[in-house]
Amino acid sequence: MVRYAGIEGGGTTFVMALGSGPEDLSTPIVFPTEEPERTLERVVEEIRRAGDVDAVGVASFGPVDLRRGSHTHGNILETPKPGWSGTSVVGFVQQAVGLPVGFDTDVNGAALGERRWGAAQGLESFIYLTVGTGVGGGGVNRGQPMHGLNHPEMGHMRIPRHPDDDFPGTCPFHGDCLEGMAAGVAIEARWGRRGEDLGPQTAPAVELEAWYLGTALANLCLSLSPERIILGGGVTKLPHLLDGVRQRFLDSLNGYVTIPEVLDVGSFIVAPALGSRAGVLGALVLAERALHPAP
Ligand code: ZN
Repeated sequence: MVRYAGIEGGGTTFVMALGSGPEDLSTPIVFPTEEPERTLERVVEEIRRAGDVDAVGVASFGPVDLRRGSHTHGNILETPKPGWSGTSVVGFVQQAVGLPVGFDTDVNGAALGERRWGAAQGLESFIYLTVGTGVGGGGVNRGQPMHGLNHPEMGHMRIPRHPDDDFPGTCPFHGDCLEGMAAGVAIEARWGRRGEDLGPQTAPAVELEAWYLGTALANLCLSLSPERIILGGGVTKLPHLLDGVRQRFLDSLNGYVTIPEVLDVGSFIVAPALGSRAGVLGALVLAERALHPAP
């Protein structure tokens, strides 16, 4: 039986597990994202310790270089994360363990996991938007992880402001882009406390979140015509947020789209099904794809 090493490389922690799917997954090992060499050494150490691994998959924080033929393919691109800009993740791991290494963004990885075992089974094209500390977007198009020239950066799309909102936004590049207005960092800056501690400010915070996220999902529906949108990440655990997003999504479309699958908004905009295991499970799919590349 094949065995893969799946690694979810986050900006704060790395999560790693071995197996071939949800029924056959080792207890994930979690370790902090320190300086690159030390972190990747730990990955290599765990793979060697496990032995008997056929391929490795890494679903990484970004931005990353996924361009075919690029001499920096598999690297982390320019990032504010100290020391990580230019780190060759694929090169480091491949050279150390001599195994095929699949690589993609964390959100494209999670999307592949949801397609195989979760909320997007049987779908050829869907979007996965995750709202945590930042906002990441990706998904699958015609059965393949969503790539263009490189990978999408949906978190930085521009969204019209809520009419009563004068918050400047927290994105260092754009101020009030989607991430700058709706990510966890923005919630903390706007309300002075984290999403789970909002108390009486929860309802107004949820209204604003629903506005920005619902509008963003309408834009994604209009521009990419996915079969479904999965909305995940810590921020989406705010009470009643998903209902608010669905309502704002419909209000923003304002009757323009009449396709029944879209109007059945409870099935069109859904939560992830794999929970915190989506990242490592998706990384297993990346490993499998590296072992058996599509013709
Ligand atoms: Zn931005």
